[in-house]
Amino acid sequence: MRIDIITLFPEMFEGPFSESIVKRAQQKGLVDIHLHQLRAFTADKHRKVDDYAFSGGAGMVMMIRPVAKCIESLQSEREYDEVIYMSPDGKLLNQTMANTLSLKGNLIMLCGHYKGIDERIREHFITKEISIGNYVLSGGELAAAVLVDSMVRLIPGVLGDETSALSDSFQDGLVSPPVYTRPRDFRGWKVPEILLSGNERLIAEWKNEQAVKRTKERRPGMRDEC
Ligand code: SAH
Repeated sequence: MRIDIITLFPEMFEGPFSESIVKRAQQKGLVDIHLHQLRAFTADKHRKVDDYAFSGGAGMVMMIRPVAKCIESLQSEREYDEVIYMSPDGKLLNQTMANTLSLKGNLIMLCGHYKGIDERIREHFITKEISIGNYVLSGGELAAAVLVDSMVRLIPGVLGDETSALSDSFQDGLVSPPVYTRPRDFRGWKVPEILLSGNERLIAEWKNEQAVKRTKERRPGMRDEC
């Protein structure tokens, strides 16, 4: 999978992409991430990427020309499955979307800033708009990093233990059951006996019961959201 990210702040991705699973996925050649500085697609000497909104109002708007140039130059090199704009009013990211996107070949992600981007970019270039939650961030970078992380860990071969992504919350419409590790007893706080019993069938039943119970308590509407 190839991901091209268009951004004014490529350095913001250094941390999230150079550690842990996303780093390993890149090293294994399972994902190829390219960061593109939007200012490189400006023609004026000030490398201007934003301008005042027509009709006034507070805040600057990202201009169409540099974005169009950048997207078109990428599209002249290869076909893209989606051109994604990270946007607070986009479709809310969930596990089903992460699963679907993790199967794609080439993706572009556009990170907005300021008041957002000229609406004509959305109309003419963007094929999918994704939000990571009902709150406003200063820019699309953190949102894009979240989206990339949620997708990359689902690419086959990225996680060492293949079953571990499948047993995560939301994969089967349920949140995860509680998990424990050693010691069995910490200050009298004990691990549930059943997990130490070695009876695989009973353990599986217990885990499923716990997952169902937790889902009812914590995410009652979850099946409808996925
Ligand atoms: N004025 C806009 C917010 C702009 S925030 C509005 O009210 O809708 C600046 C940029 O941050 C956006 O262009 C978008 O790319 C990104 N962004 C902000 N919040 C986000 C969220 N919840 N999910 C995804 N991207 C977000």
